Amino acid sequence: YVKKHGRAHYRFYNEEMSHIFHNEVLMEAHLRRAIELNELSIHLQPQVDFNTKDINSFEALLRWNNPKFGNVSPGVFIPLAESSGLIIQIGDWVLEEVCKYQRDWQLKGFRPVRIAVNISPKQFKQDNFVIKVEKVLERYKINPEHIELEITESSMVNVDETEGILTRLKALGVYVSVDDFGTGYSSLSYLKKYPIDIIKIDQSFIADINKDEKNEAIIKAIITLSKNLGMDVIAEGVEYTDQEQFLKQFNCHKGQGYLYNKPIPVEKIVEQYFML
Ligand code: C2E
Ligand code: MG
Ligand code: MG
Ligand code: MG
Repeated sequence: YVKKHGRAHYRFYNEEMSHIFHNEVLMEAHLRRAIELNELSIHLQPQVDFNTKDINSFEALLRWNNPKFGNVSPGVFIPLAESSGLIIQIGDWVLEEVCKYQRDWQLKGFRPVRIAVNISPKQFKQDNFVIKVEKVLERYKINPEHIELEITESSMVNVDETEGILTRLKALGVYVSVDDFGTGYSSLSYLKKYPIDIIKIDQSFIADINKDEKNEAIIKAIITLSKNLGMDVIAEGVEYTDQEQFLKQFNCHKGQGYLYNKPIPVEKIVEQYFML
């Protein structure tokens, strides 16, 4: 306050910074209470077989609706959850909700489907991560094959003990996929070391189909690599039929994207896919 009238520029800068900081702190405070206040929900996005149009799996995508901030994009609140450590609690909640749905559907006699759950690096490197997964599967009597864990490349390469964690997850029987494949500045050597079931081609590559030949060469290489390593491959962010055509032509037969469906609330999924 002593220097209130001097160095106006500096003062402005600091106020601006503190405003941004304050907003983030406020959002974090709201996020901290999001579970107990029932503000989180899960949307599911179908994964479609291009040839048969069959849907046997979905990706779970978290949604946050807050009275003050409205619908906050996961692109905003997931990094906040990750940096604040809240992702542990939130990630546990997502996995448990997905298991609850699976249990409910099983009891109702719906056909079995797999649900993929996003796992952030901080969750993945918890000492008790594998035990948590095992316990929640047991608690809800879930067939492990009906759960898939999506791990990012940065978890694959930056976490000590990745091999041990993945081996133990595979021993439980869950599926493991690499999310956003091709965007992680990582070497490919982890692909030969780790037990991975599915590679998800990042949507940035799919968006550039028919726009960029180099990009197309990369997609073809990813598909061939996956097949040769005995892994499944799925395309993210398929929006146009010509993208589907391209992928089919080069032997990728599965995708998710707005061409088929946006991520939609679980109740609507039940109406659309199980009440036939
Ligand atoms: P992601 O796991 O790569 O999920 C795919 C994102 O692409 C989702 O964004 C989905 O809504 C969007 N998408 C699907 N189809 C299309 C399409 O055809 N075109 C375009 N442009 N986008 C499409 P969303 O739901 O906003 O989630 C963003 C990211 O937030 C996710 O990327 C994931 O990294 C993270 N995330 C979401 N839910 C969770 C969660 O429960 N846990 C963790 N750790 N991360 C999550
Ligand atoms: Mg994902
Ligand atoms: Mg992805
Ligand atoms: Mg992504």
